[in-house]
Amino acid sequence: MDHSFLIKPMLDDIYPVIDYGKGIYLFDMDGKRYLDGASGAVTANIGHGVTEIIEAMNEQAKKVSFVYRSQFTSEAAESLAEKIANMLPGDLNWCFFVNSGSEATETAMKMAIQYWQEKGVQTKTKVLSRWVSYHGITLGALSMSGHPGRRARFVSLLEDFPVINPPYCYRCPYNLKEANCGYLCAHELETAIKRIGAEQIAAFIAEPVIGAAGGAIVPPKDYYKVIKKICEENDILFIADEVMTGCGRTGTMLACEQWGISPDIVALGKGMGAGYAPIAAAIATEKVIEPILAGTKVVMSGHTLSANPQACATALAVLEYVEQNNIIQEVEGKGAYLRTQLEKLKSLFKFIGDVRGKGLLLGIEFVQDAVSKTPFPRNALITQRIVALAKDKGLLVYPAGAGIDGINGDSIIISPPLTISKKEMEELVHLLKETFNDFSNQLN
Ligand code: PLP
Repeated sequence: MDHSFLIKPMLDDIYPVIDYGKGIYLFDMDGKRYLDGASGAVTANIGHGVTEIIEAMNEQAKKVSFVYRSQFTSEAAESLAEKIANMLPGDLNWCFFVNSGSEATETAMKMAIQYWQEKGVQTKTKVLSRWVSYHGITLGALSMSGHPGRRARFVSLLEDFPVINPPYCYRCPYNLKEANCGYLCAHELETAIKRIGAEQIAAFIAEPVIGAAGGAIVPPKDYYKVIKKICEENDILFIADEVMTGCGRTGTMLACEQWGISPDIVALGKGMGAGYAPIAAAIATEKVIEPILAGTKVVMSGHTLSANPQACATALAVLEYVEQNNIIQEVEGKGAYLRTQLEKLKSLFKFIGDVRGKGLLLGIEFVQDAVSKTPFPRNALITQRIVALAKDKGLLVYPAGAGIDGINGDSIIISPPLTISKKEMEELVHLLKETFNDFSNQLN
């Protein structure tokens, strides 16, 4: 059955064929059970095989699975848009549905540029971002991403968008401590704007918690307040890429809420369909949509399967399930418990440099030496080895990058379904400890 050429197995590991999933577990054709400690790629937020979602999918399939978005809308798409507007803070009321997180951030970028054009400003076409970031794999989204590994082959095709340093306190680019750092990494945005000229810049994009590129890096307390103020003072829109952090992953519907800031445009994906359907969205405030509605009236983006009724009905069922079962309210407590357990592992294994994250988006960075924070050499493939050892034991963790250059560092993300129980978290930690024991033996 190994005819899929979409994904190349790492370290010659042949991909097991999954038979079915139930709750936080996946089962392969040989009957092996995997605890999904990463929700796939931080996606399966409510776990696998949830009956309510399957029933909603069937109901929609009986009605209609596809209508073309330029001819019709559907009850499913309209209800989903209303549900999202109600769940998001502020007046993020206008949803543009797409099929992946990359399309969502790219649509957000295009919306921002179009916003300025509709207001008569043609020059604001650049989007600033941060190094050590990931906003998607398509060329527009990749142009905004500070992810060297994913950019390398295509650099000549990418837009040369300026970047600033990440808010990476464990490896502060200024070697400062948060208490007296003056948020220099946020103020870099001001410097970048001065160099380039605000009249060239449409938006600044950031993941509230840095995911794939950095392993759940959490910015310090007032970081986003500084960023938002600089954006406002310079007429630059703030795009929050909440593809990974959104839909409750960090304990609030949007992670941004925890820093007390409201974005102009938000990208959602992953947890929005929770893996039951390929669906994502770029969501704009009234301020952003107003000149577009007063002007050409058409957001210049979209795909054949945008606002697909089948996908929309599925995402609607997921969000209703999240709401009805108070899933987001429990994330903070669960995350605190899991984090404490990971901190305990840190005290046992000297190759754990940092444990970090927010809610149930947690990261572990690995180092050769915890005091000097020296990373392992690249060719040691530490992240890949740890991910493979965990998989052997029946635990799935997500490989992420690390290092201020986005190259020299190793980390994993621990992000189980938000529905995980305390007993299941104990099992996760037990399997992780066994993984680290094996890895420790490899190092000795
Ligand atoms: N933005 C963020 C923050 C992500 O983590 C990802 C995927 O990992 C994307 C965008 C791209 O999403 P997708 O893989 O669905 O295209």
